Amino acid sequence: LINDVDPGTATIPLPQSDGDERRWSDTSAYARKKILQSWIQLPNGNWELGKILSTSGEESVISLPEGKVIKVISESLVPANPDILDGVHDLMQLSYLNEPSVLYNLNYRYNQDMIYTKAGPVLVAVNPFKEVPLYGNRYIEAYRKRSNESPHVYAIADTAIREMIRDEVNQSIIISGESGAGKTETAKIAMQYLAALGGGSGIEYEILKTNPILEAFGNAKTLRNDNSSRFGKLIEIHFSDSGKISGAQVQTFLLEKSRVVQCAEGERSYHIFYQLCAGASSALREKLNLASAHEYKYLGQSNCYSINGVDDAERFHTVKEALDIVHVSKEDQESVFAMLAAVLWLGNVSFTVIDNENHVEPVADESLATVAKLIGCNINDLTLTLSKRNMRVRNDTIVQKLTLPQAIDARDALAKSIYSCLFDWLVEQINKSLAVGKRRTGRSISILDIYGFESFDKNSFEQFCINYANERLQQHFNRHLFKLEQEEYIQDGIDWTRVDFEDNQDCLSLFEKKPLGLLSLLDEESTFPNGTDMTLANKLKEHLHSNSCFRGDKGKLFTVVHYAGEVTYETTGFLEKNRDLLHLDSIHLLSSCSCLLPQAFASSMLIQSEKPVAGPLYKAGGADSQRLSVATKFKGQLFQLMQRLGNTTPHFIRCIKPNNVQSPGLYEQGLVLQQLRCCGVLEVVRISRSGFPTRMSHQKFSRRYGFLLVENIADKDPLGVSVAILHQFNILPEMYQVGYTKLFFRTGQIGVLEDTRNRTL
Ligand code: ADP
Ligand code: MG
Repeated sequence: LINDVDPGTATIPLPQSDGDERRWSDTSAYARKKILQSWIQLPNGNWELGKILSTSGEESVISLPEGKVIKVISESLVPANPDILDGVHDLMQLSYLNEPSVLYNLNYRYNQDMIYTKAGPVLVAVNPFKEVPLYGNRYIEAYRKRSNESPHVYAIADTAIREMIRDEVNQSIIISGESGAGKTETAKIAMQYLAALGGGSGIEYEILKTNPILEAFGNAKTLRNDNSSRFGKLIEIHFSDSGKISGAQVQTFLLEKSRVVQCAEGERSYHIFYQLCAGASSALREKLNLASAHEYKYLGQSNCYSINGVDDAERFHTVKEALDIVHVSKEDQESVFAMLAAVLWLGNVSFTVIDNENHVEPVADESLATVAKLIGCNINDLTLTLSKRNMRVRNDTIVQKLTLPQAIDARDALAKSIYSCLFDWLVEQINKSLAVGKRRTGRSISILDIYGFESFDKNSFEQFCINYANERLQQHFNRHLFKLEQEEYIQDGIDWTRVDFEDNQDCLSLFEKKPLGLLSLLDEESTFPNGTDMTLANKLKEHLHSNSCFRGDKGKLFTVVHYAGEVTYETTGFLEKNRDLLHLDSIHLLSSCSCLLPQAFASSMLIQSEKPVAGPLYKAGGADSQRLSVATKFKGQLFQLMQRLGNTTPHFIRCIKPNNVQSPGLYEQGLVLQQLRCCGVLEVVRISRSGFPTRMSHQKFSRRYGFLLVENIADKDPLGVSVAILHQFNILPEMYQVGYTKLFFRTGQIGVLEDTRNRTL
């Protein structure tokens, strides 16, 4: 990839010739341009800055910082920028845009707590893993007044507000990055700014309070991040005509349900469980028959109960306050806590063998009794649901007794369903509370905080879905920044030679093609009662082996060539997770409960299963509930999301994690580089710099700046006015192009005009 960003070998023809000043790869250029410093790659892969002492023929002599002098092949040198460019705000300003220079620039800024840097239109945020003095009212005020020009999330949010008002177009702020890179914090910082500028009605407090609630119920400690979001989130904040916040709506994606019943060593289940156990009042404890976290099997299996520096009991109070603020009544809050306790007690339900065919029944102990009491059902009904299954065979119903693994599955499926329904129910309550009033104007800013690309040693169904989503988002990013740009030039008659960019359509087709794509084949196999993880793997290999983005590996393994790299998936658990069956018996049990929440959960599940749907339905064993597969549902959500984002002006923030140990001050070059490549940051800079990223219609331009003209313009049309403005301000011809409908500018050119305008107004 080094060659890709190396301007010397870039394959993009520039719109205009700018001489050969960007060619430097031949050694004579070094001499000619008096390049004094250069990057040298050390055997460990890191780059070091060296001084060029002499260059003769093919070899150069370099002195390294510690005083070492080495001889290297001149060709391997990568030119470094002059010191004066150290730590520039925008990577576009670098004379040499190679990987070591970009890495160095980010590192230079990072060391001074300047964690934000622009990469053309994209904001890069490097996680500081410590508090940095960049936030709060003083900063908000500075960005509002535009007196601080340092790149910042606030600046992005500010631009979004201004463009929403100016262009009357909805905006989106799309935040991406690996787990632990800082997406959720960044989203909160953006919300903080929007709330500060658009506040006044009071609804902004409610919006901010959705964060502690959703984090308590949807975040957990993982090995990568102590506060890892296990769901994706889009929050759409609505504004009135006067620019004040009028409401908001939250949409969530693909909560990781499996975490409720199992999680890896050193990780935790959802925060709220520990918060409840630590923070409940004695009255509540008694009411819910609540024990300590250590006594619950679901929480005990990972051997991790606390997080450094986090007081779960205190957080519990914060969550309760937040629930008050979004108008969840005390009574409903108690029901929520009862559901949580029910899930915990379900995990403690154990089974005993009752016959010589290894059929089991739950042990009638405190756990079982407490679950029944908390959800408001009859103990016998609960026992039946956890030990038997009604099957309809033709017109008869037969009763099948469960074996231990089947009973455990039924129990865990019930726990997962209660939890995920509870999560959805909470989101619904939040949305009711934040509902946009009647005076909805349709103007909004959406903030998307969605799990980034994941590639672990073992990758399962969750990574499969997450990476599919990222593939879609990446295409949105690419298309927006490159393709649309190019189309617009062509449409407007601008001289522009086609820009090549990496499109990931092939990989998306691998997922989405019907009937022979990953998702269709997965769904098909999920409908076969005899389908197994192995038959799925074989099916994929059989049909997809010739696809260039796919590789069948041995056993249950297969590899997908994603835009961000290859990922090998293991099909273990794919079918079960995709079917996500909850037996009808369990749904009926919930609907028979005397408590309101289980009833609501049951009816929402029944509604879901009765909806006429486009995808395949699962109906294993006759009487099971019919549901849309998880993958199909997710794909539907994703398409809807892309459609929504498609109607907005996007602003991209790429979060970067500088180390894997959540430690401040540690900047690992290799890790950063890999993320920069994955999210296309380097590519963006390269392409934006060679184009005309700023554009404005003739009408708008003449309206906006016409009053600055000294000459009389009464007889001129918008184009004439625009040209006159360009002349008056001495904007160099190579810095702009005049299209049929718009003016196109190179970066930074509008700044002078804006400044003069702001001074004059
Ligand atoms: P992600 O959502 O990308 O997985 P988070 O937003 O949860 O990552 O960030 C992980 C951790 O990094 C946070 O809990 C916080 O400790 C730290 N962090 C991230 N961004 C910032 C920031 N701007 N300032 C201070 N700490 C941050
Ligand atoms: Mg997060």
